[in-house]
Amino acid sequence: MSAAVLPGSKAAAERAPIRFEKVLIANRGEIALRILRACREMGIRTVAVHSTADAEAMHVRLADESVCIGPPSARESYLNKAALLAAATITGCDAVHPGYGFLSENADFAEMVQDHHITFIGPPPRLIRKMGDKIAAKQAAAEAGLPCVPGSDGAVESADDAVARAEEIGYPVLIKAAAGGGGRGMKVADSAAAVTEAWRTARTEALAAFGHAEVYMEKYLANPRHIEVQVLADMHGTAVHLGERDCSLQRKHQKVLEEAPSPALTTEERERIGAVAATATRNLGYYNAGTMEFLYENGHFYFMEMNTRLQVEHPVTEMITTLDLVKEQIRIAQGERLGYTQDDIRFYGHAIECRINAEHPVTFAPSPGTIGRYHAPGGMGVRVESGLYTGLKVPPHYDGMIAKLVVHGANRQECLMRLSRALGEYVIEGVETTIPLHQRLMKAPRFVSGDYDIRWLEQFVTDPD
Ligand code: ADP
Repeated sequence: MSAAVLPGSKAAAERAPIRFEKVLIANRGEIALRILRACREMGIRTVAVHSTADAEAMHVRLADESVCIGPPSARESYLNKAALLAAATITGCDAVHPGYGFLSENADFAEMVQDHHITFIGPPPRLIRKMGDKIAAKQAAAEAGLPCVPGSDGAVESADDAVARAEEIGYPVLIKAAAGGGGRGMKVADSAAAVTEAWRTARTEALAAFGHAEVYMEKYLANPRHIEVQVLADMHGTAVHLGERDCSLQRKHQKVLEEAPSPALTTEERERIGAVAATATRNLGYYNAGTMEFLYENGHFYFMEMNTRLQVEHPVTEMITTLDLVKEQIRIAQGERLGYTQDDIRFYGHAIECRINAEHPVTFAPSPGTIGRYHAPGGMGVRVESGLYTGLKVPPHYDGMIAKLVVHGANRQECLMRLSRALGEYVIEGVETTIPLHQRLMKAPRFVSGDYDIRWLEQFVTDPD
């Protein structure tokens, strides 16, 4: 292979598919284990990385090799590009899977990996970079044919500019950070005075959280649903969609429970938005797995952003399509063809995922600690994604999600009954968890009816009656 052809690039793929021998898993927790399992089933050896706080983690125990990459703070370990690259090089890995969070959407890291002739299991770095800048992403999305939320069509440069744009768009408006993520740097404003204030505070927050103060503006939709479309594309020009996920159950802009298909969409709407997303994926020159996030209100879809990585909630799509998304990501990165088209994709039944966090179920205060008794639910249609075991210390340094309970049923009704049953079987002692919140949700008429929007859960947790 000539030095000019980078692994993971289109040029490399056009030669012949390669086969990975060893993959570095640049992540922790349940997703590290998820990736490890896919690799093992594909006959690929794995290298786990871990901070000193995660030395006893399940993915470290199960990996073929492991490398300690630093102290507990994420900045010095899971976000430490040099340490990760050194680990991949020293162990002779030919690919890196970034998982979600941490460096998964860091274009510089993806480029560094590829510059070292190691394949980054993900889309081309230039598209990670473009989609990471939400202003550029919205422009690219509009050009690729996606409907967008009406907004400022670019950065809002001054407080006066903010007021002028808001008057054009119409109140209420939402100010968002161009480099945003996790709902940080977002401010709603319903008057000229509020916009001036929101513009200032959003910039301050964005600068503190992301190192970039740039903000933009969108019309604030009153009661939308969050509906996202999973796409998959190979390096040879084939792109498909795998249907949608409804992620409207959110608290502080964080997803709590996800389901597929969405109880709100008709088959016609699903096919329409799916086709639009798949076409846009192709138009963008995108490959690997990706997710296009939309707000959906009164029968209209509005593009919000594209996530250029595997999502936390990918298992609900796996359950209704029977595709293994991590294996698909690896196959695509090896330069293989998808080997199927949209017509081959079928949807079976209904799936729901509950995110289980080590948090107090009412106050949501973090609850790190040592796991005592542990018993995971089982039975037909039940899947647990978690690295928990008795004696494991849940460290306070990272995201509190410790498990995902994913359930599949022939239809939504069966899925709900199965989920209630499985939640009742789950025993996690030693830390507080959000299982009781999910149990309350299963009994909430609004949730059971499927008629909820992105504001409903927030109100339900503060006032369940
Ligand atoms: P982040 O990348 O910070 O998560 P998103 O753009 O994905 O930001 O938005 C996060 C959440 O904020 C969405 O899931 C939705 O609940 C809400 N949101 C975003 N844009 C709007 C909007 N224009 N109107 C109403 N709610 C919005």
